Amino acid sequence: MPADPPSLLLIAALFVAAAAGWLFGRYRSGASGALAPEPNKLSEEYFRGLGFLLDEEPDKALEVFLRMVDVDNDTVETHFALGNLYRRRGEVERAIRVHENIMARPSLSDEHRLHAMFALGEDYFRAGLFDRAERLFLQLADGSGRHMQALRYLLRIYEQQRDWEQAIVAHRKLVAVASPEHPTAIAHYHCELAEQMRAKGDFTGAREQLHLAREAQRNFPRGALIRADIALDMNQPELAALLCQRAVELHPKLLTLALPRVMRAMRGTDAGEIERRFRVWIRPDPVARAELAYAAIVAGLEQESFVRECLPDLLREDPTLGEIVSATSGDPSHLTAEQCSALATALGRILRRTQRYRCVDCGFASAAHFWQCPGCRSWDAFAPVALLDLTPGMHRR
Ligand SMILES: [Zn+2]
Repeated sequence: MPADPPSLLLIAALFVAAAAGWLFGRYRSGASGALAPEPNKLSEEYFRGLGFLLDEEPDKALEVFLRMVDVDNDTVETHFALGNLYRRRGEVERAIRVHENIMARPSLSDEHRLHAMFALGEDYFRAGLFDRAERLFLQLADGSGRHMQALRYLLRIYEQQRDWEQAIVAHRKLVAVASPEHPTAIAHYHCELAEQMRAKGDFTGAREQLHLAREAQRNFPRGALIRADIALDMNQPELAALLCQRAVELHPKLLTLALPRVMRAMRGTDAGEIERRFRVWIRPDPVARAELAYAAIVAGLEQESFVRECLPDLLREDPTLGEIVSATSGDPSHLTAEQCSALATALGRILRRTQRYRCVDCGFASAAHFWQCPGCRSWDAFAPVALLDLTPGMHRR
């Protein structure tokens, strides 16, 4: 049976690595005047291992490579190549065995030992063995030549485990030596802690975390929304509505998150008061009006008169929907109040059943909003999608 392309790639890479390792070892031994390695024995073992790989017997191949006695500074690169290729193929257990085998060799240089520790950390991370990966990366984060990469892995581990306090420590260490991948991440870690404290009723602790978030990132919109949530918890609806309004003024894209909070703040007030409150949100800019109508429909406010007023702007801004409405009912600006009302009701039903957000970095689509994309780990990358979204998302939830 012919080997599949990844197997061929693996074997080709191993062949090159084996040849390079053997030649390098030969050259180094010759130059230092020491005894030359036994090229025949070395190549016999390698080719026996390669033969097992060709026969699709990776376990036997692995045993041959693990039994090889000559893992030293000259031939170790071949073993790294084998381990990394196993990991790339998703065969993490085999990669772990190869890298553990390298680690167990006492004669390795410090550089190779650090390389093996890092590779093993990556294996454990891929296998979901976060506690083991964390132990290795913590050692490497302490001044080794791989400390930046180790800190980046530690951040990923703490984010996955939702260990925000440790994430803050790792982020601070990373900022001291390199530009972090996501500069606003630390403000989100403080917000995550604030959310946890708020859920326990510790509003003082939550506010302290929000203060730290603001110190890390000025005008941080998530912080303003959590402040509004605390105000709602403490029965201060006016303050909550005001905080939401300020958050949206700074970051108009937060409308879909802010409006449901304003609705909670306005619960129990009469329709005229709700209308007056939302009037201040309506701006002359057609794009802003379209966004307000969209967010209001997501929030279940589709029957409010200000939504019907902004609906023609939303229809014009959404290319697919605009075309359908123009073809069936004419110019969106000339729709009757009844037509607007029926359209708003139908759009509300559609929106509540479909993905409303998409990550601008990787295309992950979801009905719920995430501050950190579950697909690519980017922070603040989720944005509302078009009303009739015909673009396939990478993942859908
Ligand atoms: Zn993403």
